[in-house]
Amino acid sequence: MAKSPEVKLAVFGRAGVGKSALVVRFLTKRFIWEYDPTLESTYRHQANIDDETVSMEILDTAGQEDVLQKEGHMRWGDGFILVYDITDRGSFEDVVPLKGLLDEVKRPKHVPLVLLGNKADLEHGRQVATEEGERLAADMACAFYECSACADQVGTGGGVAEAFHELCREIRRR
Ligand code: GDP
Ligand code: MG
Repeated sequence: MAKSPEVKLAVFGRAGVGKSALVVRFLTKRFIWEYDPTLESTYRHQANIDDETVSMEILDTAGQEDVLQKEGHMRWGDGFILVYDITDRGSFEDVVPLKGLLDEVKRPKHVPLVLLGNKADLEHGRQVATEEGERLAADMACAFYECSACADQVGTGGGVAEAFHELCREIRRR
């Protein structure tokens, strides 16, 4: 099996959208209900994606960083998962400025990106329609997933792992 170089992934989004839960879900297939919201962690992971072993380093940001810290994380990363919470419109509105900052930091390079609407299990509290997520992803020319860190395969299809894998593919395509 071919071995590829390491890719650096960073997960961004407002505090509370479920970044840590998603990362832990991806790494352990388990859901952790409470996770220190101020904690920023990096993890190493290997996955077999399209018959290739991909090594990844994953940065779970806290979501409360100032601009300088954010820029540092953006410079570090090769690809980014922008997470919002489908039950929190404000978290969705945070995505565009994040993408703007990413473009600024990475200019003139194309930025590999995935948009992820989390907490798709909380349909009753939904504030952001699936179509809005789809439209934003189309604007940003990136893949879009709705998923849930606490349930398998909810929403528009594709689980949490699929979002991470697709981001790795997007990075490798460049
Ligand atoms: P972070 O600040 O973005 O890292 O968010 P956390 O991962 O700490 O999650 C914030 C809160 O949302 C916690 O209480 C989690 O249990 C909860 N949470 C995270 N993901 C989901 C999800 O997919 N569905 C539901 N119902 N709750 C979630
Ligand atoms: Mg967290």
